[in-house]
Amino acid sequence: MKMFCAGQWQDTTQTINVTNSFDQSIIDTIPRGSSEDVTNAVTVLEQGARIMKAMTPYDRSLILQKVSELMLERSEDLARTISLEEGKVLAESQVETMRSAEVIRLSGEEARRMTGEMIPLEGNAGGKNKLGFTLRVPCGIVAAITPFNFPLNLVCHKVGPAIAAGNAILLKPASDTPLSALKLTEILLEAGLPPEAIACITGPGGEIGQAICTEPRIRKISFTGSYEVGAKICEMAGMKRVTMELGSNSPVVIMDDADLEKAATAITMAGYANAGQVCISAQRILTSSAIKTDFVDLLKSKVESLTTGNQLDESTKIGPMVRETDAARVEEWVNEAISQGARLVSGGERQGAIYTPTILDETRPEMLVVKDEIFGPAVALSYFDDVNEAITMANDTTYGLAAGIFTQDVDRAMKFARQVDSGNIHINWSSQWRADAMPYGGLKHSGTGKEGPKYAIHEMSEEKMVVMHLA
Ligand code: NAD
Repeated sequence: MKMFCAGQWQDTTQTINVTNSFDQSIIDTIPRGSSEDVTNAVTVLEQGARIMKAMTPYDRSLILQKVSELMLERSEDLARTISLEEGKVLAESQVETMRSAEVIRLSGEEARRMTGEMIPLEGNAGGKNKLGFTLRVPCGIVAAITPFNFPLNLVCHKVGPAIAAGNAILLKPASDTPLSALKLTEILLEAGLPPEAIACITGPGGEIGQAICTEPRIRKISFTGSYEVGAKICEMAGMKRVTMELGSNSPVVIMDDADLEKAATAITMAGYANAGQVCISAQRILTSSAIKTDFVDLLKSKVESLTTGNQLDESTKIGPMVRETDAARVEEWVNEAISQGARLVSGGERQGAIYTPTILDETRPEMLVVKDEIFGPAVALSYFDDVNEAITMANDTTYGLAAGIFTQDVDRAMKFARQVDSGNIHINWSSQWRADAMPYGGLKHSGTGKEGPKYAIHEMSEEKMVVMHLA
């Protein structure tokens, strides 16, 4: 496919292969964009920002509504594209496509509700006869840098709100999974988004990322990806506004009074969906010592029913990881944990980019499978004696994106909700649940700012204060 840059579809002499990680076959090629492409794109996006600002929120909502409709019409093709480039099973790609169309539709609805606030100035000393209110205005040009693991939905979480708020957008999708973002760009243009208002530049994150971060005409960067890259972007971004949606090694606590069947079912989804490549995957399974054997046996029986294979086969539950090197890294971390004393309960085998769903028992805080973000199909079990110890263990991480607790005791649940430093807390569910409309974001190294169309629109617009000095 070509990339869309400076108002037109473009090729470059150098290209990058997009491959199917199941069999390494080449699906397509994409241009290898450069820093010069960023500069050229931004010159045109400046015009786009003026056009977008002149449109009413209602006009922008109509475009987004049309985009959502076209996405639903093409959902089969979009889902297949996601599965081919990313490796997730078709059923999960279908869900991602539906969610993505919904995110765009919600963004259109929120565009119509964008509003400022009356400020009661007369409640202040010296405020007599002053009438104050805020106005929300677009940032101008918003850059969206996105990861591989939800190549359509996480793009929509940035593009939808950026359009709703009246911005022009420079999109830089992950190099492994650019095709669904390029197909979305086609749809955006077809639905009536002015060609000056969008660029989708493909290519190496390092070069394009640096050009984006140091480009003075870009006002806002919305990034989803790893902590390491997010930290680099923040260093380079200077006075730009940033939203950072970063990684996690999410804890899920199973108390002695938990519904074990429900907990094991939830963890079987949350530890392994998309081969564990979900930012809110359940990774650290903190279990009450009182139920140790019962829970491990139950989890093992469920996890061993997950079949691995070609992501396009209907019988496959877990497809390949995005790259063979990622599966090799997971293998290395698991083997390292075993050599440090962890017990392998299930899985632990690799074939190319496929890593079998793995349970490690008796893990300790210093092991990489506990300490870092594994971002692969493996969970690490460890044990506590009471809820205070569980909370301490849950908080023993630099991350803070999502956490879950299973218990019948509302006091324990609320203690956990109040004391665990995490942007999302789930009671009687795992860490892995998201409704696209809710405010979503992390604490600590998991990021700054919120997504969810309503909240992202807030972050992608600026606030102006207007004061009327009445007679
Ligand atoms: P990544 O950080 O490697 O890459 C993300 C994007 O940044 C890609 O488009 C990449 O090309 C670009 N990039 C790379 N180097 C750059 C640089 N120097 N400057 C600017 N951009 C650069 O992440 P990934 O491997 O694609 O995705 C996995 C990570 O994303 C995990 O850590 C996961 O937890 C996180 N994630 C977080 C959320 C969330 O909502 N919090 C959601 C999904 C994924």
